[in-house]
Amino acid sequence: MTAYRPADLPDYDPDLLPGDAVIAIDGPAGSGKSTTARFLADRFGLLYIDTGAMYRALTQASLSEGVSADDEAALVALLAPATLELRPAKGEVTVLWNGHDVSQAIRTPEVEALVSQVASHPAVRQEMVSRQQAMGRQGGVVMEGRDIGSVVFPLATAKIFLSASLEARVDRRFRQYKQRGRDINREELTRDLADRDRQDSQREVSPLQISPDAIVIDSSELNLDQQNETCARACLVNPTLDLELDTDLHKATREIPMHYRFAYFVFRGLARFFGLRQYGNEDGALPRGCIAAVNHISMWDPPLVGATFHRFRVHTLAKAELFKFWPVRSLFRWIDSIPINRKGFDAKAFAEAKAALDDGETLLIFPEGTRRAIGHPGPVRNGLGIVVQATQAPMVPIFIRGSYGKQPGGSRLSPCEVTFGPVMRWHGLDTLLTEIDAKEASRVIGQLCERAFYELQARSFERFPQTNFERELGEIQIEKFAARQRKVFRS
Ligand code: C5P
Repeated sequence: MTAYRPADLPDYDPDLLPGDAVIAIDGPAGSGKSTTARFLADRFGLLYIDTGAMYRALTQASLSEGVSADDEAALVALLAPATLELRPAKGEVTVLWNGHDVSQAIRTPEVEALVSQVASHPAVRQEMVSRQQAMGRQGGVVMEGRDIGSVVFPLATAKIFLSASLEARVDRRFRQYKQRGRDINREELTRDLADRDRQDSQREVSPLQISPDAIVIDSSELNLDQQNETCARACLVNPTLDLELDTDLHKATREIPMHYRFAYFVFRGLARFFGLRQYGNEDGALPRGCIAAVNHISMWDPPLVGATFHRFRVHTLAKAELFKFWPVRSLFRWIDSIPINRKGFDAKAFAEAKAALDDGETLLIFPEGTRRAIGHPGPVRNGLGIVVQATQAPMVPIFIRGSYGKQPGGSRLSPCEVTFGPVMRWHGLDTLLTEIDAKEASRVIGQLCERAFYELQARSFERFPQTNFERELGEIQIEKFAARQRKVFRS
């Protein structure tokens, strides 16, 4: 499916959206994001956050302080001590830079000409993204920008990518300027918008790009009411999935074979021994034919995560080296493990994994391919993206912590936890593939998964802050694990 039409989307029922929802709206300049984001905030009772206004405020400050838009260090020096507030005011947002109202000053052609340059600096983005995450972490927000679904909130409740043809976007901006009483040359406006799109899409750090799980809506042919209504319904696509999960759950539980029940009994014993706690998805519900993608830190990860899947038959991709000796091989094959050769592409393992997903079974994978340093998940390898593109199977990102502990039974050195993220479905993948090739798309999917791990880790640290033991162990492991990764993958 390339772009959604209203008929593809569920009926509007505001109760389906949780009160702490995070709605991410991304898209190019002039696609109507602000208008629709404000509408959604109003309809669902959420707070509207315009992240473009933040980059604009910094650009405006740099103009008045005489700081060059190329000077990354000076821009960060300007931003770091500054207070930047977005205050809702009668359908609009008041933007305060160091307490001064700059709401009008940031909407000028002078600012527009430089803002993309200012926003392209990695250090500027890092500071802005962490401020945006702090604003939105409590939930209950509609956040609008370029990288909200892909970088700022990889686990957003709903992600919308709003696009429109250049012509339609120029029309809208032209009307906006006219309404504000500003005379503007149409050709110049077209050139500026096209330039800004190019800069935003081509920058190295978090470029404007469709998140593969975003719902893409092309608004070129929609009037404002249709655009708003389509987006409101798109917000409900992900939350409604929970209803489907419940029916699946009963079916899956009934189908579980005897030897699995025994394996789960052992895994659950182990989980008790480790003092494992589970957050999110306490019912153990997963959609049919789903990829469970888990970060990897210890050899205990598979049985510990396995203990949380007690209602499903699960096929696990495991390194081929483990299948060398026949008793272990038989045991692993008995519980549906699939041996994978990690040097190069293993077509046989891939075909078996795909068949399992196509049959509606769960595939457990550790997409980093090998154990990674504690506290530093990633990088996620391209294999995940290849499986996703071949199957379009939904994915649940899962974060495990504390499974390496030498102190089982709930160590104070590090809590042992498994945190489930929301189900990700690849609504935007087809449209993304019209812009980039399959290899690049695999990289984008891998990055999204890695960011999801970081976000789940942040949630875990909020419950129980990272301990000194974890920090120090992670530091020690970084070099060691990087060397192992080079050896395993010959990269
Ligand atoms: O949305 P708006 O047109 O106000 O954004 C102004 C500029 O800020 C964009 O062209 C883009 O360069 C930058 N921006 C960004 N990331 C965001 C929001 C805006 O880089 N999340």
